Parts: sequence; C-alpha cells; structure tokens
Amino acid sequence: GSADLETEVVVLGSGPGGYTAAFRAADLGKKVVLVERYSNIGGVCLNVGCIPSKALLHTAEVINEAKEFAHYGVKFGEPEIDIDAIRAHKDGVVSKLTGGLKALAKQRKVTIVHGYGRFTSANTVEVEAEDGSKQTVKFANCIIAAGSRVTKLPFIPWDDPRVMDSTDALALAEVPKRMLVVGGGIIGLEMATVYHALGAKITVVELSPGLMPGADRDIVKPLHNAIKKQYENIYLDTKVTAIEPTPEGLVCTFEGKGAPEKDTFDRVLVAIGRSPNGGLIDAGKAGVFVGARGFIPVDKQMRTNVPHIFAIGDIVGQPMLAHKATHEGKVAAEVIAGHKSYFDAKTIPSVAYTSPEVAWMGKTEEQCKSEGIAIEKGVFPWAASGRALSMDAGNGVTKVLFDKESGRIIGTGIAGKNAGELIAEAVLALEMGADAHDIGLTVHPHPTLSETLNFAAEVAEGTCTDIY
Ligand code: FAD
Repeated sequence: GSADLETEVVVLGSGPGGYTAAFRAADLGKKVVLVERYSNIGGVCLNVGCIPSKALLHTAEVINEAKEFAHYGVKFGEPEIDIDAIRAHKDGVVSKLTGGLKALAKQRKVTIVHGYGRFTSANTVEVEAEDGSKQTVKFANCIIAAGSRVTKLPFIPWDDPRVMDSTDALALAEVPKRMLVVGGGIIGLEMATVYHALGAKITVVELSPGLMPGADRDIVKPLHNAIKKQYENIYLDTKVTAIEPTPEGLVCTFEGKGAPEKDTFDRVLVAIGRSPNGGLIDAGKAGVFVGARGFIPVDKQMRTNVPHIFAIGDIVGQPMLAHKATHEGKVAAEVIAGHKSYFDAKTIPSVAYTSPEVAWMGKTEEQCKSEGIAIEKGVFPWAASGRALSMDAGNGVTKVLFDKESGRIIGTGIAGKNAGELIAEAVLALEMGADAHDIGLTVHPHPTLSETLNFAAEVAEGTCTDIY
C-alpha cells in the first residue's frame, strides 16, 4: 500500500525507552517518527509512574518528618491537607517534564504521530488516531517500546470507582478512611506510604511470606518494622479471593494466616504487577516473535528475531524499570546508526521510595546462598552513623557483599533515608570491579550517609573502627 509517511526509524511508544531511543537516533542523524497513543509523551514513567509517585511521596515525607519532629522539640500541629493543591503540585511536576520532552523532540526534528500503532507488515506500521483516521508509516528500522500495563485479576470489580489501580491511586480522588493495598511490592508500598501520610488507615495484603519480594529480608526489616507500627494490618502469606461492592464499602474476602475471613474498606488499591504489551501490536504481521506472556525476546543489541526491528524497555522483560528502558533505548538507536553498541550492564538497581527507602543491586545474599557463591559480608547499622542519628535515620542499614574468590563487590542492600541515592555508588563499584579495599580506602565526606558504604566495606575487611 501507499505510505503517508516514510522514515528511517519509527519508535512505537514514547515512554523512557521510546523517547530516549528516538532522541539518540535523531542525534545520530536519523530521520525519526515517534508514535504515541496518548496526547502526552513520556509513557507510564512520566505520566502515571515514577514521577507523579515521587511528587506525592515527597509530600508524604514532609508530613512524616514534621510529625516525627515533635519528639525533638519542634511541634507543627496537625497537618491541614488540601488535596486539590497536593494534586496540582504533582500534576505540575508531570506537565513540566512532558512539556520539556515535547520541546526536546521538536529541537531534534523528531516527528510525533499520535494514535495507536500496529504492524501491517515488516516495514509498515498503521497508526489509528482517536477519531478513527489511519495513517501508514513506512520504515527502514523500528524500535518497539510499547511498555506494559496493569495486570488485572479477573474477579476484581474494576467498574467500581472505589477499586483502584496505580493510575487511579495517583489521580488522588480522595483520602479514604480505610484502604486495602493488595500487593506488598514496590508500587503497592509506595502508594501505601502516600495515603498513610495523608491520613488513611492502611491494610496491606501480600501473597508471599514477606513484603518486597526480591530483596533480602534484613534489608526489608527496617521498613517492615516502621510500617507495622503505622498501618492497621499487614497480612502475609495471604490472598484476596473476592471483592464485593456494597453501599457501605468494598467487602473483601481473605484466605491466609492471621487475616479475618472478611473486612470492609472504603477503597482498594490493586498493585499485583504489570504485563507487557507485546500481544497488542500485531507483531506477527511483521514476523516478530512474541512469547506466551507478551514479552518480546531480544539479543544484547536489542534486536528481535527480525533483524531490522528492535525492542526495548518493559516489553522485553524484567526488571520493568525506567533506567533499564533508557539504557536499552540508547543501545537500539546506536546499533541502528551502525555503532557496535550492546547492552552490557552488570546490574540494574531496584529502589522502593518508601519511608525508609529500600534499595538493592547486584546479587542478594539469598541469591548467593542458593547459587552456592561464597561471600564476605560487611553490615553497617546506621545506629552507629553520626549523620544518620542526627537526621533521625538510625533505623537504616547498609550491607555490602563481596565475592570470596575474586574479592570484588557482588551485591549491596541499603535501607534508610536516601537509600535510592546511596545505591548508585555501589552500582558504580560493581561496574568498575571494585573490592572491599577500594571502597574502604576511598575517602568519603564526613558526616554523610554515604560513609555507611565505606564502613560496611571496612567491616567486611575487618578494619572498621566502629563508631562515627
Ligand atoms: P512505558 O513507559 O510503558 O511507555 C510505553 C508507551 O507506549 C506509553 O506511552 C503507551 O501509551 C505507548 N503505547 C503502547 N502501545 C502503543 C501502541 N500500540 N501505539 C502507540 N503507543 C503505544 N520505574 C523506575 O525505574 N522507577 C520508579 O520509581 C518507578 N515508579 C513507578 C511507579 C508506578 C506507579 C508505575 C506504574 C511504574 C513505575 N516504574 C518505575 C516503572 C516504569 O514506569 C517503567 O519501567 C517504564 O515506564 C517503562 O518504560 P517503557 O519505555 O518500556 O514503556
């Protein structure tokens, strides 16, 4: 058929993976078309993910700190919550970023086409606009960056507005009196942090035996201990088997130890995971293989089974994180431009921006154990850090793991204020192949939380002098 648009590179989806790939390709001299179904570019991360959640979490942090400081001689009184202003602050942060992205796309002469894209052949994508009009984009190379969507359990009454997914929760319609959070992972616990600070009574229900599956238990403990005191209930090893809307509230049925058979909540947030969008783009018409669960397999150059079609971000696999998507996006664009790039990260860090934060990278201690890797471990409790104590952050902990054979850092877990910032140094150490001596001899500024990494390395070496 005839094409309305012809381009060297078409990028399907404008999330962190897609816009990064589009910009990098344009910077390398390629003619680029970026296809996005929604009117705002930026994808899940900017619009309904990382950024709005962090804006609300900052609000929560300010409320919590003000409250806690009553113990230390300054009382601010009960916070007055203006939910419209809080929402406006969050929306303002998002629109600054999406507006900025639009300007950056324009500067680079990246053409944005709004509408839903589907493959019609190995060299054409058809984009259907909201008004039903269709446009065909003929391409030499394609980068699939169509991301993921909320996983929907079948028995959940989604048409009731009191039942929320993460997008609904971020919209902040109201602060419910009692809220159930289904799923004790990163997204569920971040939203629980926000709603608790705003005044909701929180119950968390998690299917597995512990919160934040994937992290070491000792690193999750400071968070668990903190929220155990704040929340109404935390049910582990428990599942929700039914949610029944009634005029009085949502009647939830539980199955598991410690949970009542039924309880009634004003709102329920379901945060049990995300599913890749691989099955929704007619990939088969381009000959692109999509796995059973909707992920698109790629090689280290982000190439699908069709050599001129690439895929990046949430749609290619776990972990579904923005910083993975952006790095993969650069690789795909560079490979298309003829560079010998490939995705070679040794680790992708995970961060929960809860209070306290929980961050980890590399292998967990649990993984080392199950893989039979001998390790040397250094743990530094923040109760011995002067900076942590002066910031009321003595509940934190920094744990660094070293491979016994090579001596090199192999994993790190940090719990505590700003753990998400602190983990970056451990990631760099891992990428550079640092050992405990390298980290121990690196002079860190005093007094800082960053020293705890230094001290944990010294603990592993046996050279730590204990209190700072
Ligand atoms: P996405 O961001 O999902 O973007 C895909 C884009 O493609 C979307 O804009 C979509 O509209 C568009 N699209 C899809 N199909 C089509 C089609 N057929 N035609 C046209 N357009 C299409 N990650 C972090 O690293 N840090 C965090 O703090 C963090 N917090 C999060 C909080 C929440 C509440 C959620 C839900 C996620 C969070 N994430 C976080 C995950 C992060 O948002 C994703 O990993 C990231 O957005 C993935 O980027 P992507 O480019 O693969 O796809």
